[in-house]
Amino acid sequence: MDFLRKLFGSSEVEFYQYDMNSIPKTTGLCSDNECPCPETPIPKGSGYLYISQEAVVFMKAKKAGRAGGGFVFGPMPILVCEQGAKLRGIDLKVAADDAKRWWETGKAPLRPTPMASRKRQEPEGETVTIDMSTSRQVGQRLSGLSAEYKKFGFESPSSLLADAKALRNAKKAPGTRDKVVVDRAVIERACDKLEELSSLAKMAGQFETANEFGNHAKNLRSALDR
Ligand SMILES: [Zn+2]
Repeated sequence: MDFLRKLFGSSEVEFYQYDMNSIPKTTGLCSDNECPCPETPIPKGSGYLYISQEAVVFMKAKKAGRAGGGFVFGPMPILVCEQGAKLRGIDLKVAADDAKRWWETGKAPLRPTPMASRKRQEPEGETVTIDMSTSRQVGQRLSGLSAEYKKFGFESPSSLLADAKALRNAKKAPGTRDKVVVDRAVIERACDKLEELSSLAKMAGQFETANEFGNHAKNLRSALDR
């Protein structure tokens, strides 16, 4: 469990450093499998870097020195053309800045690329109405995670306990029997944490755990999209 300490412990990691030799000298290609373009050439310094949540977890694992063990293969950030970036709906400014930095310094930030639309839809303090059972269940699960962290001597991720409590004790939505009102930010953080752990469990070959965390996150996300 030592790698968990390295991944989620107190030392906050900001960037993953690529080997500069692995970065194209002049021109790259759009590497997005979901982009319909014919591998559009991307000149040095330009394009968009798409960083998935799974790539963040994999880079953290590599950085923590576990890539030689069970973490040899995993998703990395991908360089995409404008068409691909727009199709994915990512924040173009952030993705372009990330690409530029990657070309110049080989550094990729250890956080997923933000979505363009989501950013606009989320004013501070917005609340969401979700099923009480989902809220209680995920709240319980998050509390358990915190206990696990502690058991192994790690610092539990900041805000985890408070978010767990907020989910467990969420107030009933007026005029409903089985719905509660929760801050959108709490749900977002819970999803991120569950997806992060799900990716990690998958890479470690713990597929049942990965599915469980993944399903909790999926339930929460679908509540957000409603
Ligand atoms: Zn493309």
